[in-house]
Order: sequence, then C-alpha cells, then structure tokens
Amino acid sequence: MDFNLTPEQTQFRDSVLRFAKKELAEGALRRAHDPAYPWDVAKKMARQGLLGITIAEKDGGQGGSLLDAVLAIETVASVCPRSADVVQAGNFGAIRVLAEYGSSLHKEKFLARLLKGEGVISVGMTEPEAGSAVTDLATKATRDGKGWRVKGSKVFTTHSAYADLVLAYVRFGPGVGGIGSVLIDAKSIRRGKTSQFMSGEEWAELYFDDVLVPEEMVLLGEGGFKKQIAGFNVERIGNAARSLALGRYAFEQARAWAMQRKQFGRLLCEFQGLQWKFADVKLKLDSAQLLLYRAALNAKDGMPSAEDTALAKLACNQAGFDAANEALQVMGATGYSSDTLVEYCLRRCRGWMIAGGSVEILKNRIAEGIFERGFPQRG
Ligand SMILES: Cc1cc2nc3c(=O)[nH]c(=O)nc-3n(C[C@H](O)[C@H](O)[C@H](O)COP(=O)(O)OP(=O)(O)OC[C@H]3O[C@@H](n4cnc5c(N)ncnc54)[C@H](O)[C@@H]3O)c2cc1C
Repeated sequence: MDFNLTPEQTQFRDSVLRFAKKELAEGALRRAHDPAYPWDVAKKMARQGLLGITIAEKDGGQGGSLLDAVLAIETVASVCPRSADVVQAGNFGAIRVLAEYGSSLHKEKFLARLLKGEGVISVGMTEPEAGSAVTDLATKATRDGKGWRVKGSKVFTTHSAYADLVLAYVRFGPGVGGIGSVLIDAKSIRRGKTSQFMSGEEWAELYFDDVLVPEEMVLLGEGGFKKQIAGFNVERIGNAARSLALGRYAFEQARAWAMQRKQFGRLLCEFQGLQWKFADVKLKLDSAQLLLYRAALNAKDGMPSAEDTALAKLACNQAGFDAANEALQVMGATGYSSDTLVEYCLRRCRGWMIAGGSVEILKNRIAEGIFERGFPQRG
C-alpha cells in the first residue's frame, strides 16, 4: 500500500495551488460573504481545466480520476474556501450524473455550457415531506402525449436561486421503482421566496406547475433511482472533501494564530490545553482524509461504493466541523468575527452534516453493512 501521491498527482496538485494563489487568494473573504455564484471564478476554472476533471475527454472533460477531482477541490479550498463550491458544481454535483447517464443530446445541449462555467445545474431531490426519506418524494410525472407533465415542488436546493437547469427527481410510478429523473429548464420553474441557510447560501422553493417535459429530457426513467444514487455518491465525496478542507483551512489559521498570539506572556501554542486540542484535531483530519482517499481510489469507473462513501462522508463531516469549532475557540473573539474565514468554515461545515445524507442517515447505512442486512426505517 502506497500512501504517497504519484508524481503526476503531485504535479497536478501543485499546478492547482499555483492557480489558486494567483487567481483566488485575493477576494477570498469577500466571496465567502457574497451569496451570488462566483461566475468569474467559474470561467477562470474552466480555462484552467478544473471543470469536468473526471468527465471523459470525448464529452469535453479532462478524463481524470476521482482522486484528481478531490485533490483539486481540497487545494482550491485551502486558498479560497468559497471557490471550492465551483469545483463541486463543475465536477461532483449533478453535472457528473448528467455526464454519466445523459444522452448525446443532453451533453450537446447542456454539458458544453456547464463546462465553460457559463451555467450551473442544481439537483432537486428534497421535498417538503421527503427529506431523509427521499423515496417518499411526491413530485409526479404524468404521461402527456409524447412527454410528461411534472407537478410538485423541491426545497433546500443548492444554486436554486440562479441555476439555469434542474435535475429533478420525479415519480413516474409507485414505490422506489417508480422514481427517475428529468432535466427541467429553470425558465419553466416558478421560484418561491428566497431563504438563506446559516452558511449564507441562498435557496428558493422550486414549483413545477404542470411543467411539460419532452420525452428526450428524461435523464433516468422509471427504475432509475439506483443509478441516480450511485451518481449522487460522487456528490457526497465532494461534500466530504469540502468539509475536510474547510476544517483544515480553519486548523491552519488557528495554528498560525497560536504561534504568534501571546497571553500571560506566553505564546498560545505553549499551553498544553491548546496543544492537545491541535493533536486531537489533527488525528481526526488525517484519519478522515485516509477514508476519503480510499473511497476515491476504490471508485469503479469514477463511482465510489455506497459504504466507502458513507464512511468517508461521516468522518469528514465530523472532522471538518470539530476542526473548525476548535479553531474558532483557539482564536477567541477573532475567530468568532467575520473578519476571518474561520467562522465561515464552521457555518459551512455544520450544513454538510445535514446535506447530502445527514450523519445519522450515514450511520444507518454503515450499520447495514456491518450487520449485512437492511434495517427498514419505516414504522
Ligand atoms: C446546506 C444544504 C444544502 C442542501 N442542498 C440540497 C440540494 O442541492 N438538493 C436537495 O435536494 N436537497 C438539498 N438539501 C437538503 C438535504 O438533502 C436535506 O436537508 C436532508 O436530506 C435532510 O432532510 P431534512 O432537512 O428534511 O431533515 P429530516 O429528514 O426531517 O431529518 C431531521 C433530523 O432527523 C434525523 N433523522 C431522520 N430520519 C432518521 C432516521 N431514520 N434515523 C436517524 N435519524 C434520522 C436526520 O438526520 C435529521 O437530523 C440541502 C441541505 C442543506 C443543509
């Protein structure tokens, strides 16, 4: 077993770091407090080849591995935490599902634009009555001539305030087998009032008022749920990688602070009570990183397994949050202030413990692997 990156991976990571320092370092604080999508960053990343890292070259991507994409998102986050969201949107999110299962028409019509950083695609899964129990979703697709009429609504959708395309999970028929997905142009969606998460990200409830979806805009028809979730595991890896990277970002800020801030005539890093916090956090971050890299390296055709993903996301979500929380404590009122990015990292990491499969739901999945049986959650 080799725990070192290959020379190519090291070279790639170094090139991303040079790019991030040159193009993203300036403005990192401002971007974190701006709910608008950083389109300028998206275009720069497109030019740098950082969108579509794992997408096949024939489809306009870079043909790289999932680990390459993880290295990119971590490296960008180490310089500009907010810009890591652009790496997520351009590599790990619904774009990856589109590239994996989309037809040549879908790729021609949408993928090229997304890879240029000129558009963004959302995934609409969660509904008011279907959160963790996602298979309870009620958004219905009813046959209408050669297409489908879609009726229902989605909540908490990332990028929903400005996305131009939504990959919506819909119900073609009853049960889990009746679930599939369609691509809906944002122009045919009614947006409700805009709300804000604790992280500052904005979302709007999306209403599909009998939207007519042509047959060719079905991404995965009836029976497509399993494939959809296999693709969603990639999204979870991006979520995990950002949790870890923002936790590490906060850790590095606190480390630098502890080496220059004096109280009682001594540097903070000289107090054992704080040294042990750093040791505990380093243990959490480094062990979560091994699980993350294992999930990425074990991925078959770029798709990580459900169990590897659940373990990696759980470890990274907890490590990231704990790291940011301890870093804020070490930095006192400075860390709690919005003049540093530490409080931002904490707020973001908190959200990832809920988004994309909460830590409790991940533990349920891990338990199923341990006991080699399913545990239906319904009463
Ligand atoms: C920052 C952020 C971004 C998001 N982005 C998107 C997006 O882009 N697209 C999208 O579709 N959705 C998105 N979501 C929604 C997210 O997927 C849901 O919030 C999540 O699935 C949980 O659903 P819920 O909030 O309705 O909580 P609920 O499902 O109501 O759960 C409430 C609590 O109960 C726990 N719980 C529920 N069932 C069980 C159980 N069986 N065992 C143990 N505990 C349980 C949960 O873990 C949670 O702590 C986002 C959420 C956040 C916070």
